[in-house]
Amino acid sequence: MAQHPSSHLERFGERTRLVHAGREPFEQHGFVNTPIYRGSTVLYPNTEDFLARRAKFTYGTQGTPTIASLERAWSSLAGAADTVLTPSGLAAVTIALLTVCRAGDHLLVSDSAYRPTRIFCDGVLKRFGVETTYYDPLVGAGIEALFRPNTRAVVTEAPGSQTFEMQDIPAIAAVAHARDAAVLMDNTWATPLFFPPHAMGVDIAIEAGTKYLSGGSDLLLGLTSANERWAKPLRQTFQAFAMCAGPEDVFLGLRGLRTMALRLKEHEKQALEMARWFAARPEVARVLHPALESDPGHAIWKRDFKGSSGLFSVVLKPASPAALAAMLDGLELFGIGASWGGFESLVLPFDPAAYRTATTWQAEGPALRFHIGLEDLDDLRTDLEAGFARLRATA
Ligand SMILES: *Cc1c(COP(=O)(O)O)cnc(C)c1O
Repeated sequence: MAQHPSSHLERFGERTRLVHAGREPFEQHGFVNTPIYRGSTVLYPNTEDFLARRAKFTYGTQGTPTIASLERAWSSLAGAADTVLTPSGLAAVTIALLTVCRAGDHLLVSDSAYRPTRIFCDGVLKRFGVETTYYDPLVGAGIEALFRPNTRAVVTEAPGSQTFEMQDIPAIAAVAHARDAAVLMDNTWATPLFFPPHAMGVDIAIEAGTKYLSGGSDLLLGLTSANERWAKPLRQTFQAFAMCAGPEDVFLGLRGLRTMALRLKEHEKQALEMARWFAARPEVARVLHPALESDPGHAIWKRDFKGSSGLFSVVLKPASPAALAAMLDGLELFGIGASWGGFESLVLPFDPAAYRTATTWQAEGPALRFHIGLEDLDDLRTDLEAGFARLRATA
């Protein structure tokens, strides 16, 4: 291998890019991976270079070879002009919002957005003079009616957090761009492997690398990528905050990247099988998973997405809190906890009724969000069958 292909990857397929992007072995003495660079000070060879800040790397907060490796790889994967890495997925959201918003702006945010995104809009952004209107995630091109002269950006997320509504991103982007507004998207569920955000009209895309880039519940990381129009403002905002990710988490993110396609395919397969199993259970009222033919968002998912990941929700028939607790507390293989994207299965009860404002959450009974891990499905089913038996016995 005379020259590593990392610098001219665009002609290669996605899986080849996942393997090669961001690696420069011959800048690392031939070692396959870019190592963890730790550091604050970066030395300059002379005064002139220092005064001009003429160097590939200038200071620890502004980038290291490890960080640059993952940024380049992610830009290649997402079809972005640039990517910045943040210390968490939520930081990736807030950096994206701070890149586009100015005092006096108006923001349109999907009612199904990740809840901490709402909290940032209603708290910090409000304090700095940015007003947020929440909209029905199913609005599509109808978003036009909600625009004001000062609407600066539309924040999307597909499918929606916990409730899995699909959004018509190309339709929303067409309206927003005609009005010179930016389109932000939290693409954590699909990742660029299943939804190429910038090719679909998204200006700034957000990924919680904590989830599928990690694949191991062992790191916190955010990735914010931008198209040509927004790349420079994004980089400038990121530098102003110096919101840099930790070196070890970035290294683990690079490690996860190489196998992400395989893991995602397996999560997809496992989750689809479990979603169909839930749909046939007598205790279940509805399954919220856009890759199921019965899902209201299926047509959009089929048109725009290349796959589905391991996260979906289930609405149960009416059950008491005690019955639900009996079901969940006895599960052996499903952990109860936030976050997802790791190798292990998780379950979480949720109720968005308390904080949604543009839509009304109506559910037949308690709602549960599942992440399906890489375990044997027979074992997961046995665990859940016992859980449903406890639910029925307590009801
Ligand atoms: C988890 C998550 C985030 C935040 O990621 P953290 O790394 O936990 O801060 C943002 N958006 C979505 C959709 C998520 O699921």
